Amino acid sequence: MAEIIKGKGVIEGIAVGSILLAGQNLDSFIVAYKPGKLAVEKKKAADALVAVAATLEKSIEDFKAQELNEQAGILEAHRLLVVDPGVSAKIEEEFEKVASAPVAVLNVYEENAKIFEAMDDEYFRGRAVDMRDVGKRIAKYLLGIKEPEIAGKVIVAGKEIEPSVIAGLPTDKIAGVILGAGSTTAHAVIIAKTRAIPTVVGVGDGIDQIADGDPVILDGKTGEILIRPSDEERAAYDVKIKKQEELKAHYAELKDKPAITLDGKEVELVANIGSPADADAAVKNFGATGVGLFRSEFVFMGKTDVPKEEDQFKEYKAAVEKCAEVTHGEGLCVIRTMDIGGDKPLPYIQVGVEENPFLGYRAIRISLQRKDLFLPQLKAILRAGVYGKAAIMFPMVINVQEFLAAKEFVEMAKQELAQEGQKYSDSVQVGIMVETPAAAVMAPVLAKYVDFFSIGTNDLVQYTLAVDRGNAQISYLYNHFNPAVLRLIKRTIESANKEGKWAGMCGEMASDPNAAIILMAMGIKELSMSAPSIPRVKERIRNTTFAKAKEILDKVMEMEDGDKIRDYLATLA
Ligand code: PEP
Ligand code: MG
Repeated sequence: MAEIIKGKGVIEGIAVGSILLAGQNLDSFIVAYKPGKLAVEKKKAADALVAVAATLEKSIEDFKAQELNEQAGILEAHRLLVVDPGVSAKIEEEFEKVASAPVAVLNVYEENAKIFEAMDDEYFRGRAVDMRDVGKRIAKYLLGIKEPEIAGKVIVAGKEIEPSVIAGLPTDKIAGVILGAGSTTAHAVIIAKTRAIPTVVGVGDGIDQIADGDPVILDGKTGEILIRPSDEERAAYDVKIKKQEELKAHYAELKDKPAITLDGKEVELVANIGSPADADAAVKNFGATGVGLFRSEFVFMGKTDVPKEEDQFKEYKAAVEKCAEVTHGEGLCVIRTMDIGGDKPLPYIQVGVEENPFLGYRAIRISLQRKDLFLPQLKAILRAGVYGKAAIMFPMVINVQEFLAAKEFVEMAKQELAQEGQKYSDSVQVGIMVETPAAAVMAPVLAKYVDFFSIGTNDLVQYTLAVDRGNAQISYLYNHFNPAVLRLIKRTIESANKEGKWAGMCGEMASDPNAAIILMAMGIKELSMSAPSIPRVKERIRNTTFAKAKEILDKVMEMEDGDKIRDYLATLA
């Protein structure tokens, strides 16, 4: 029988492979290392910095060429940690205490990592891993350690996983990821999401029970990990894997078919993305017909400074072009302006310590006060609009005034672009996320001003029900079928339609096939979700009629209990 450990499944799918432990121990290599004269060691350390920076540069270019911009961004941040003049000065000083180049390098990066680790903020603490990662990379170069040859598929595991471990492995080699820490903002998890690698986080000390090379089965849905499974267990999972493969093949057949009911009602199924590479995968592999939410904060993450207008433009343009490519120019790419703050802090934007970050200085509230950040972003999106169909979407709006103020910035951005002689699109739609109860209640008024609504249920559910979206203890209350939430959603969609505007949804609810039925009956035009969910939702829509969906909605709206609504809808599936 296998030993079973459990964590939180964050990226669905079953993976089978042998463990590759991240965080190689360098101790034995350090002991075996024979330092030369001090001057020689100093020169070796300095040369290693140059060589590693050059290797990183090469990898960055390779990633960029493959449009793997997240990975490129992370490695660029690493490169900056290598070329930092402060670091070389510290290494030079370190030679007053130690005589070996790899030890001097490791000490300096460890010292820097500790400074990050002592910070209150989860994001900053997480960056200590990057610091150690870079130190180790340079030390490995000095010790002459080559990356291991990998035979077969691996499941990368570690208490913390250095981003370079995942970024550096070929996509087809990594079957799964196991992270001891619970962080979903870890760079390793961000990369895994982009590549749809089944992932389990938060296994804690359970990670100590896994050894390098152990055969493992991982279920990214249940969070279960079977270490050294028996033949019977393996066989049981083989059945599940076979089903997974069959379903994949079936979904592949649906890829180019429309999401249309048996009686002819069509819904647009589009993708939530964090980079142009995600857009590419969504379109190519899952049949997305556009992008309903480009979380632009990912363009800002993994960097040490605010990305310039030009750099942002390139990313938005690539995503807009991808959408235009599949749909003969019709595919819309909705780019949300930075949703910073709350659970997504950035090192170079000071938000300060807040009692309630989710109710604090975040999203549009920051943008409206930071012209220096907001204008370049809007200009970049307007410029990208020339290459297809782009839309601008503001997060966390609570009233008409915020929308109008943000819209003024859009006008300002256009004026600046005109003055600069830059090409931009004048037909970029401008809309808002409806993710606060205030926006949903005021939807009839807001609908007069906006071009569209996109309902962000992840936040809308948490704010409406006063249930923290990340608190496991009260997660039983977090239900998008709660009648209070359903009434707000219905009101939002109907308000948009009444004003001749369109309403979509980009919260997780959009990926629930049972929800899709009633949302469609409410009059939703577009459902945006993480791309792998698209086929499941499409299948549900294609197997029903609009007339039946309306009947179901009528019944649901008469029900009083969210749990019963969920159960009722599940019986129809
Ligand atoms: C939402 O709140 O539903 C949403 C899509 O935004 P995020 O998950 O990025 O907060
Ligand atoms: Mg949100």
